[in-house]
Amino acid sequence: MLAEARKLDAELRSEDAKPIRKNAHALETELLNEILPEAFAVVKNTCRRLCGREWMVCGRPYKWEMVPFDVQLIGGMALHSGKIAEMATGEGKTLVATLPLYLNALTGKNVHLVTVNDYLAARDSEWMGEVFKFLGLTVGCIQHDQPPPLRRAQYTCDITYGTNAEFGFDYLRDNGMATSAETQVQRGYFYAIVDEVDSILIDEARTPLIISGPSTVASSQTYEKYKPQVAELFRSQTMLCNRHVNDAKQLLDGRTEGGKDNDDREDQAGRLLYQVKLGMPKNKQLLKMIEDPSVRRILDNGELALMADSSKKDLIALKEELLFTIDERQHETDLTEKGRKFLNPTDPDAFVIPDLVSALHDVDVLTIPDEEKEKRRQDTQRRYEERSEKIHNIAQLLRAYCLFEKDVEYVVQEGKIMIVDEFTGRLMPGRRWSDGLHGAVEAKEGVTIERETQTLATITIQNYFRMYDKLAGMTGTAETEATEFENIYKLGVMVIPTNRPCVRKDDHDRVYKTRREKYNAIIKEIAERHAKGQPLLVGTVSVDASEVLSRMLKRQNVPHSVLNAKYHQQEAEIIARAGQYGGVTIATNMAGRGTDIKLGSTVPGVGGLHVIGSERHEARRIDRQLRGRCARQGDPGSSRFYVSLEDDLMRLFGSGRIASIMEKLGMEEGEELQAGMLNRAIETAQRRVEEHNFSIRKRTLEYDDVMNKHREVVYSFRNEILRGDDPRHSIFEIIEEVADARTTEHCPADKPQDEWDLNALVRWANFAFPVGLRVDQLAHKTADEVRQLIIEKVRRAYEAKAANEDPNALKAIERLIVLNALDRLWQEHLYNMDQLRNGIGLRAYGQRDPLLEYKTEAFEMFDELMDSVKSEIAANVFRSASSLAAFENFLRALPMQLSGPELNAGSAYQGGSKPAAPKGSDVVDQAIEAASAPIKRDVPKVGRNEPCPCGSGKKFKQCCGKNA
Ligand code: ADP
Ligand code: MG
Repeated sequence: MLAEARKLDAELRSEDAKPIRKNAHALETELLNEILPEAFAVVKNTCRRLCGREWMVCGRPYKWEMVPFDVQLIGGMALHSGKIAEMATGEGKTLVATLPLYLNALTGKNVHLVTVNDYLAARDSEWMGEVFKFLGLTVGCIQHDQPPPLRRAQYTCDITYGTNAEFGFDYLRDNGMATSAETQVQRGYFYAIVDEVDSILIDEARTPLIISGPSTVASSQTYEKYKPQVAELFRSQTMLCNRHVNDAKQLLDGRTEGGKDNDDREDQAGRLLYQVKLGMPKNKQLLKMIEDPSVRRILDNGELALMADSSKKDLIALKEELLFTIDERQHETDLTEKGRKFLNPTDPDAFVIPDLVSALHDVDVLTIPDEEKEKRRQDTQRRYEERSEKIHNIAQLLRAYCLFEKDVEYVVQEGKIMIVDEFTGRLMPGRRWSDGLHGAVEAKEGVTIERETQTLATITIQNYFRMYDKLAGMTGTAETEATEFENIYKLGVMVIPTNRPCVRKDDHDRVYKTRREKYNAIIKEIAERHAKGQPLLVGTVSVDASEVLSRMLKRQNVPHSVLNAKYHQQEAEIIARAGQYGGVTIATNMAGRGTDIKLGSTVPGVGGLHVIGSERHEARRIDRQLRGRCARQGDPGSSRFYVSLEDDLMRLFGSGRIASIMEKLGMEEGEELQAGMLNRAIETAQRRVEEHNFSIRKRTLEYDDVMNKHREVVYSFRNEILRGDDPRHSIFEIIEEVADARTTEHCPADKPQDEWDLNALVRWANFAFPVGLRVDQLAHKTADEVRQLIIEKVRRAYEAKAANEDPNALKAIERLIVLNALDRLWQEHLYNMDQLRNGIGLRAYGQRDPLLEYKTEAFEMFDELMDSVKSEIAANVFRSASSLAAFENFLRALPMQLSGPELNAGSAYQGGSKPAAPKGSDVVDQAIEAASAPIKRDVPKVGRNEPCPCGSGKKFKQCCGKNA
């Protein structure tokens, strides 16, 4: 047996151990499947034994009374097999997860349970912890404020609870920032169960996880400078739009019964209104006018007519009457010719991005001295950069003015702009809109513009979770997003039946013309039901709406609680009581998620909990989530949604159908519409938004997939260095690669030996390494021998250096050399990729596919990144020492071989042959200074991030390489 084990071990170590490892994985899976019934039974039995016991959960005594139902076991199986278990709210998913967590933790690998907030991670790990402890396993819980050693302890446990952000940030810190293996905290990505999986893998996945630091790249923000102009532009356009709305109104008011020119008037009004929609989609008067469904239809018709191919010219003319146009859906703004003149009457072209390629070409064909040409080229380049920056800043300011409304998209608190999450209404402290938009909003509100930050490490939620060997999820609402789960995460959805039949009564939506009427109706229903003692939960999509309803209830003297998803634990406690007799709770849809609402003893008699949705959400899923908060575990309960034509969903995505139905029925003020057929129309609108949002997420992901590959390569290399015991080995591999590339470059195989540029090769070798190489040593050698000789000399020189060092200190230095080069250049790469990503959209105008272009360029940039990293590592190997003494000793011991003009010219290492310097440190300074001088190459193959060979001092890509 021993012999066999040894043989297997040898095989496992060999290069092609993959099939064996795969086999081991299959064996493990098979084994787990085999013991599943037993393991689940053991957990169930443990639960039974724990019944009646008490322990603390989040500071409150808790008495265990749960034994898994059969449907819960089925849910556990779905989770074990890597699926999403759709189980309604209150079905006990927290308990369900313990079954597969226990089973999979038996492998000895760390299994993760992912929650939506820290409070739930703490609650669930304490709540379920006793089950695991009873079974001899350990449970950890990650919290935001834990220091690294404590985090590490949590991951050392068999099972770890935590939020997606904490898991993801730990991954980034471990792989992108840790400087030693000891400071890494995680141990692998084996199995994760994601609770409230739709919320995490879909809603949260819209923004990537980013660790950022202050920007090192200077940003010339000129928001302050342009703000007054843009504010003026915005005011003028507002006035123009108000005039148009008034004109449209007069045109429509001028219609007479059976008037001949009625059609004409409507056409004209439709055009005017559409123009306002283009120029100021959130114009208050416009919004008010189109409350009237017949006016809305006129607008829609106007838009349709202008969209026709035949009216392209009209549409352009219409746009040109405005100062700028806004696309509310795409969140984009565009200056018109008139707007450009407005901003700069003497030189409207100041706001047109010049065609750099042809401008440079124009310079090239001039017959002027080369120096003069170079100067002009640089001028052109600089003008181009300034102008692009200016245009970008103005576009951002316009977006800030037109599309971002205070107290809706953001609030101003303590002199800071705080983003409001559009889905949850939650404030998002510390987050900033990207690409300078945040600065633009800061300028608009007149608060201090904070320094831009730069990404140090980033990953999308999608790509983080795709790393797990096995992923599973649970939620009450997954079905509507099944395609996305399948496409992006390869997660199938399994709908698990409820333990008891659900008896919830879902009423038809009530639809009103205006928000005001809608709110009045909601308050009326609340007051009526409250009078009977029935508890109510009112869901809103924003903090704003919560506050309006709360004010209205106060006026009616209805006592109530308001929750905005700010304080998870306190809110959990409040919402847990929402099912008590006479309770009224207003909450944004995320508040208290994951908390169970139990009914008071007399509540079933008054119909159970009634849920009111004050607005349809963009995603059907979120509405279902809200409905699901009542009628859990067979309780009585009911729900109803309220909609108005002023709601964003209806305004942006609702078809004209709803409006025309209402018009046909000739609704009066305050009158409501409640018909089954409207449900379909609303659902269509929601589907449309869902698809739209999915395509945005998918697009983001397609772009991130490119970066993801880069990250994988860089992080795995980094880990090799961090965890491996022999960094020198990796360094020498790199040196060999670099030497190889240079030899091939200077001694090309397709040229005879006497055309090789041995001088250049020798110059490079002596510059990068203290090897004292001479041309005559290379003469009459094959390229392979040349390469070998260089590598051999470097190796010997390094041994000489190592002899002067403490081996452990040297190992640390070797790691640092790699990490420094890698981290610095990687972060720069992240920045460059960001720039590329932001600029790439413009390519779409050239009929080219931006994604394809992005991929091609990103590939080149990555190639260059790896080249630069390797060159930098090779160049730094001899330039660091653990102490000054070691470095001086090494320099003194260098061979006395450096002679000949081409050698002295560039070498960084002139220790031995020179008269001893008065002070050792000068030698070091000189050496380092020489080492950091820009390298000039004979063959102009220059990395984008390297100094430009023209000597401008700029990076190549910002100078002569800009068009390469
Ligand atoms: P979900 O996450 O599915 O909405 P929770 O895990 O919060 O549900 O559990 C909801 C409630 O159901 C909790 O109060 C829990 O104590 C109770 N519960 C869950 N499973 C059982 C069971 N097998 N027997 C009795 N009560 C249970
Ligand atoms: Mg839950």
